[in-house]
Order: sequence, then C-alpha cells, then structure tokens
Amino acid sequence: MKHINAEELGITKEQKFLVETLWRVVKSRENAKNWANNNPETKRKIRSASARKRRKEDPKKHKEIKTKWRLAHPDRDYVRKKRWNKNNPEKTRCFVRRRRVLKAKSEGTHTLNEWLELCAEYNNACASCGKVGKLTEDHVVPLSKGGSDYISNIQPLCGPCNSHKGVNCTDYRTPRTEGFN
Ligand SMILES: [Zn+2]
Repeated sequence: MKHINAEELGITKEQKFLVETLWRVVKSRENAKNWANNNPETKRKIRSASARKRRKEDPKKHKEIKTKWRLAHPDRDYVRKKRWNKNNPEKTRCFVRRRRVLKAKSEGTHTLNEWLELCAEYNNACASCGKVGKLTEDHVVPLSKGGSDYISNIQPLCGPCNSHKGVNCTDYRTPRTEGFN
C-alpha cells in the first residue's frame, strides 16, 4: 500500500493506524473475492464443509441460515437442488414418491432397498411388456383409489406401460407376488 504520511495529511497517528487497518481489510477482502471467482468449485467445497460442520454443532442456527439463503437466492437454490437431484437419482425418486403418497394421504411406505430388490426380482424388466431399462414404481391400486404405498402394492413398469395403465388397477405381476394389496 501507499505510505501514509500522517504529518502531511494533518492526521494523528491513531487515525493513520485506523486508515491503514481499513485499507488492509479492504485489500484482503478483494483478494479473497478474486480467489473465489477464480476457484468456484473449491470455494463451493470449502463452503459445504463448513456448512456440514455448522449443521452438526448448531442445527437450529444452520437451518435459519439455510432458509435465509434460499429466500435470498431462489435461482441459485434451484441450481443447487438440480445438481443434488442429478447426483442422487434414486433418493430423488423416493422423495417424489413420498410427496405423492403424503398428498394422497395413503397408508404404508417402502424403502429404496425394497424397490431395488423388487426390480432385481424382475431382472430389471417391465412387469407388463418385459422391456429391460429404466423402471418406474407403479401403484397397482393407485394412491388416488386408496392404494397403499407398501411394496406389496408396487409393480415395476417402464414409462410407456406406466402411463398406459393410468389409474386402472391392472396387476401385471407374476402369480407369486399377486394378491398382497
Ligand atoms: Zn413396459
């Protein structure tokens, strides 16, 4: 920084010290900002590590700060959620399903593992057309018709078969798993 001559400026030594300190603070903030702009991914990692620590030490405060941030940055919160969903596809599917179940006020629940086991039982093939690929959780008796969310009311269907089934109660499962609603 430029040398400040207190006598020339007609200020006291205390004032000079204050100016110099403020200058240093401003400079270090600028440096930090520049560094963060050049290393966005590292900055994000450092932030989430300190957020995890905070959540552990003071969950109430953590929640407060998080809510405040979300309200202040809805667009960045959207990007953050999208990224998490992309990195956690199975968990995301679980959340979406739970929301539907809660909305329909249905009985029961099942775990992600139960669903994955069911898919394995069907060799990851659609229970209706037999196509192997991405499967969706279909409620044999739809939630809207009072069906439960127990695994006994779930059949693995491919996307097209699931939308074709709609809200009827067709059970495509093999006899072994039939009749457990
Ligand atoms: Zn199918």
